[in-house]
Amino acid sequence: MAKIIILGAGIGGISMAYDLRALLGQRAELVVVSDSPWFQFVPSNPWVALNWRKPEDIKVHLPEVLAKFGIGFDAAGAKRVLPEQNSIELNDGRTLSYDFLVIATGPALAFDEIEGLGPQANSISICHVDHAAAAAERWERFCRAPGPIVVGAVQGASCFGPAYEFALMVNTDLRRRRIRDQVPITFVTAEPYIGHLGLGGVGDTKGLLEGVLRDRDIRWVTNAKLDRVAADAVEITEMGEDGKPKGQRRIPSALSMFIPGFRGVPCLMGADGKGIPGLANPRGFVLVDKQQRNPTYKNVFAVGVCVAIPPYEQTPVPVGVPKTGYMIESMVTAVARNIEDLLAGKEAQHEASWNAVCLADFGNDGVAFVALPQIPPRNVNWAGQGYWVHMAKVAFERYFLRKVRKGSSEPLYERVVMKALGITKLRAKRPPTPTAAE
Ligand SMILES: Cc1cc2nc3c(=O)[nH]c(=O)nc-3n(C[C@H](O)[C@H](O)[C@H](O)COP(=O)(O)OP(=O)(O)OC[C@H]3O[C@@H](n4cnc5c(N)ncnc54)[C@H](O)[C@@H]3O)c2cc1C
Repeated sequence: MAKIIILGAGIGGISMAYDLRALLGQRAELVVVSDSPWFQFVPSNPWVALNWRKPEDIKVHLPEVLAKFGIGFDAAGAKRVLPEQNSIELNDGRTLSYDFLVIATGPALAFDEIEGLGPQANSISICHVDHAAAAAERWERFCRAPGPIVVGAVQGASCFGPAYEFALMVNTDLRRRRIRDQVPITFVTAEPYIGHLGLGGVGDTKGLLEGVLRDRDIRWVTNAKLDRVAADAVEITEMGEDGKPKGQRRIPSALSMFIPGFRGVPCLMGADGKGIPGLANPRGFVLVDKQQRNPTYKNVFAVGVCVAIPPYEQTPVPVGVPKTGYMIESMVTAVARNIEDLLAGKEAQHEASWNAVCLADFGNDGVAFVALPQIPPRNVNWAGQGYWVHMAKVAFERYFLRKVRKGSSEPLYERVVMKALGITKLRAKRPPTPTAAE
């Protein structure tokens, strides 16, 4: 029986395990290897940081849930991936071998690249549930002695939605507490314009998000490079369109939150710290072809934030392409089908649609966008705003956590609703190009 290891137990890894179980039944042994026994629903972390959720609301203890579905689980964590030997060395010294490996390890958070950045230094973080829980304590102290706030995403970041969400939720929370008038908020981003999102914008995200920030008295700085986070201020360099420095600024802050740059997790970095040759790029992101398959090690696939995707366009300050939930699930669907075909002696030919459906919640309002596909030019390019986005995000959280607990990767109603909206996980086969004679 083929043994498939899924490395990572986040949105990508858990969906992968359930998709493979549903598709392959008992035809393969499945083992999920994570570095924690918990699943965390990362999109809810901003709510945890503002005490709108408790960490336990958005976590699922995996060993018993996975056991119910006959999926093995190991929380020792990978120390090194050894693709030449079809095996993984774990942090406790054991080695696990595989026939197929699906890497879903998400990002390592590169706080160390900027002085003073991160929860061990001067800024809070919402990228991990433990960071968000620590931020929630900090938030209550801040509200007792308010001051200026700076929120944003640093140079090289590839995840902008949560930065907008957090700035706007902070605004909502402060208004509810009737202390918004004591808190100047500044949004500082590497994006060339508000609403770029690493994607050249989606629909009119530029107009929509500028309007929302203006309406809620949030100032912004774009093309910003974060130089340093001090205890009482944020230091930035503003870059011109030509990529040259325009000037430096020190923005006072009693509290700051920045989405950091991402890189691959240490087990993918290799001996020289420049990515395992053939498997990962120098930043540690896994190289894949259109079938989500590593071109060198053909029995290795990757899904989620750990996948290498080039930037959409050159910008004065570097920004990366985000990898969002639905896009990740489309990768998962393609990988499951490809492994099924390979086990049946067929070619791997399924391609993920990389369609993006995103909900940015502001607490009392929100912006949603649909990008089909995520990278322009697109067949659908739409953004909209309203209270319904907040409600949809709450529904998305409940639905996904239920999915993890119930062991289903795509219940029928999701398939029906998404199909009705024209949103699919797999790329449709293109009709042949007509010849000149036709
Ligand atoms: C704050 C925030 C909010 C977001 N909100 C949204 C949203 O609203 N909608 C949306 O579509 N997208 C959102 N995203 C983007 C994306 O959906 C998430 O980042 C998502 O969690 C990515 O899933 P993943 O499985 O790739 O990585 P992760 O969820 O990070 O999972 C990685 C897994 O790998 C494990 N791991 C790491 N190292 C090892 C190792 N050495 N050995 C074994 N296991 C390891 C981790 O423990 C974890 O289980 C958000 C991202 C962030 C940071």
